[in-house]
Amino acid sequence: MNTYGEARGRKIIKTRAEGRCEICQRPSTLEWSHRRSRAQGGSWSSANGLGVCRSCHAWCEAHPVKADACGWRIVSRDTPPEDVPVWLAPYGMAGWYLLLDVEPTYQGVPAPPGTLDGEPPHRPDWVVLPRERV
Ligand SMILES: [Zn+2]
Repeated sequence: MNTYGEARGRKIIKTRAEGRCEICQRPSTLEWSHRRSRAQGGSWSSANGLGVCRSCHAWCEAHPVKADACGWRIVSRDTPPEDVPVWLAPYGMAGWYLLLDVEPTYQGVPAPPGTLDGEPPHRPDWVVLPRERV
C-alpha cells in the first residue's frame, strides 16, 4: 500500500495521462477521480487515481457499479487498488492494466473472466474504442 500524499500522486498521474482523459482519451483538463473513494479510505496513491475529464468523472460518480466493473471505481472489493485491473486504452492499446507508480505506469494484464480486451464492460457514449476511431 502506498502511503505518500496528494502532491506526489497528482504528479505521477499528470505525467501518466499526458493531458488526455485516461478513460475517453480526449485531450482535457484533468480531474483526479478516486477509484476507491476518500470516504471508503481511498488514498492519493497513483494506483487509486485516474486523470479524467469532467464528463467521465461525472459518469463514474453517477454509475459506480458500472464503473466498478471497468475498474474505474472500486466499490465492491477489498483488494488494494494496485491489484485491481482497470480497463483503459492508453496509446490506442485497449485492454486491462494495473496502475504502477514507476515506468511503465501501465502494466498489461489478462482480461478478467467474462470480459474482453477490446472494450470495457460498460462505457459512456463518448468513449470511442480504438477500433472505432477513424
Ligand atoms: Zn473522459
